[in-house]
Amino acid sequence: MRFLLRALFYTLLLYVSYLLLTGLIRKDAPLPQVLERYAEATVKQYLCTLPISWRIGELDPAFALTLEQAEHAALLAAAQWNNAFGIEVFRYDSIDGFPINFAYDERQQHLLQQALLQRNLQRYDSNINQRLENLQHQHARLQQQQTQFARDNQQFAADIAAFERKAQYASAANRSALQREQQQLNARQQQLQQKAEELNAKQQQLVREQDYVNDTVADRNALLSQQPATDVAAEVGLMEIRGKQRTMTIFAYKTLVDLQLTMAHEFGHALGVGHTDSPASVMHFALNTQQSELTVDDIQAVSHQCDLQPQ
Ligand SMILES: [Zn+2]
Repeated sequence: MRFLLRALFYTLLLYVSYLLLTGLIRKDAPLPQVLERYAEATVKQYLCTLPISWRIGELDPAFALTLEQAEHAALLAAAQWNNAFGIEVFRYDSIDGFPINFAYDERQQHLLQQALLQRNLQRYDSNINQRLENLQHQHARLQQQQTQFARDNQQFAADIAAFERKAQYASAANRSALQREQQQLNARQQQLQQKAEELNAKQQQLVREQDYVNDTVADRNALLSQQPATDVAAEVGLMEIRGKQRTMTIFAYKTLVDLQLTMAHEFGHALGVGHTDSPASVMHFALNTQQSELTVDDIQAVSHQCDLQPQ
C-alpha cells in the first residue's frame, strides 16, 4: 500500500512537471511577466559586464584587408563607445576576446562593383565638366572673334564703296595712288577671307568637341544603367549572442570608414542595444552618409541598457 502510494505520488509528480515543462517550452505561450523581467535582468546583467573584450577572428583573405587594418578599424569603433562613457566598455584581447570574423560573399563583391562604378562615374563626370567648361570658354571667345570679324567686314565694305566712288572721278594724275590703294584693299580682302576660314574651322572644331562631349555623356549614362537595380547594402554586419557567447561577423564594407561605422554599430548590439530611428545615429538599421560619430540617441540607448552615465 505504502509502495503504491509512493508510486502514485511520483507518477503525479512526473505528470505535473511534464505539464509545467511543456507549458513553459511552448514557444507561443507567453512567458509569465515575472520570468520575462527576470530574463531581461539576466541578459542585462551579463551583457553589461564590462569591459567586453574582442579580437579579430577569421579574416577571409578575399577582403584584401590586413589584420592590422582590421584591428585598427575595430579599435577606432570601440574607442567611440569608450570615449562616450569615459570608461573601457570594449577592450582588445587577442586571446579571450569575442571573435570579429570577416566572411566574404557576394555582398562584398556587389559593394566593390558599386564602388568601382561610382569611381568610374566620377571620372566621367569630372572629364565631362572639364570639357564643358573649356567648350563654353572657347565658344565665348569665338563669338567675340565673330563679332569683331563682322565689324571688320562692314568697315571693309564701307572702304570699298568709298574707293569705288573715288575711282569714278579719278584723274590720270592720281591713278597710281588709287592703284596702291586697290592693292591694299586686295590684301585686306585676302586677310578677311583667311580670317573667315579660320573662324569656320574653329566653329567646326567646337561642334566636333560638343559631339565628343555628347558621346561621353551617353557612355556615362550607359554605365549608370549597368548599376544593379537593388542596393545590396542590406546586411553588412551581424552580431550574434548565444548565451554569453558573442560573435561579430562583417560581410561587406566600401571604405575603412564604413567598416569602422559598421563595427561601432555591431558593438552597440554586443551591449544588447537595438536599432534607433534617427538615420544619423550609428545604431540606425542602415549604414548611410549621415553617420559619423555616436549621437545622443546611440549613447542614450546604451546608458538605458547598461545603466551607464555618459561622460
Ligand atoms: Zn543592426
